Amino acid sequence: MYKNLIEMFKENEGKGAVGAFNVHCFEMVPAMVKAAADLNVPIILQTSLGTAEYIGFEPLIAAVKALAENVPVNVALHMDHCKDIDALKRAIDLGYSSVMYDGSSLPIEENIKNTKEVVAYAHAHGVSVEGEVGSIGGAEDGVVVDKDAAMYTKPEDALHFASEAGVDALAVSIGTTHGQYKSKAKINYELLEELKEKLGDTGLVLHGGTGVSDEDMRKCVREGMKKINVGTELNKSYIEVVSKTFTAEGVTPLTSLRGLLGPANDRIAAIVTEKASLFKLD
Ligand SMILES: [Zn+2]
Repeated sequence: MYKNLIEMFKENEGKGAVGAFNVHCFEMVPAMVKAAADLNVPIILQTSLGTAEYIGFEPLIAAVKALAENVPVNVALHMDHCKDIDALKRAIDLGYSSVMYDGSSLPIEENIKNTKEVVAYAHAHGVSVEGEVGSIGGAEDGVVVDKDAAMYTKPEDALHFASEAGVDALAVSIGTTHGQYKSKAKINYELLEELKEKLGDTGLVLHGGTGVSDEDMRKCVREGMKKINVGTELNKSYIEVVSKTFTAEGVTPLTSLRGLLGPANDRIAAIVTEKASLFKLD
């Protein structure tokens, strides 16, 4: 079923966090949905604006909706980190079920004002909204935030932002970094607990999931994270597998392109299965 985050969080209450996996190319989409359906967990497919423009909004949305209608699990299509309000309105008009407005680089009052505008438009169309306060460091789809400029989310800012802007989900900075995969993040659990206490119904979102150890991931889920983003690992792994298959000895690329892409799609499915298993509470 095709759902927004509000419906999805509600139905997944007590069952853990929902994995949000970044789609980097069209090929990944069916593999991701099938992996979630096989594991019987909901899944959020998310794209950057760049990926949406690369694939095309309409074909992407149509494909995700068609796949969602044919599986017994909930599927959402979410626009990740977008600073362009007009582009978000377009995504909403065309059928994304959820969007993230990222005003984290703006002064908080300006961030609230813009996010409120997106929330009003989105909610009128049955679409959920994620916001961000405090900055999560690292590079994502070419958008670089200096690691030193990334700061822990201040609980009072988060509360002020969430209650004023009326977001359904909130990206918080508790020690993770975008694009991290060589080392592991150090999570600030005290902060997570305080944020959870203050924010109540607003779903907390962990970005930079690739750089989180399995043990920390389980703990974040137990502590009440609602959505966990995984992007870097999918991109990196797809490139890794494709580089190997396309250059392997004895390969005759002209006979079957599908045969060469298959292993990369299988790897994506395996990552979704592995991560989503960690996000699921027993
Ligand atoms: Zn992010």
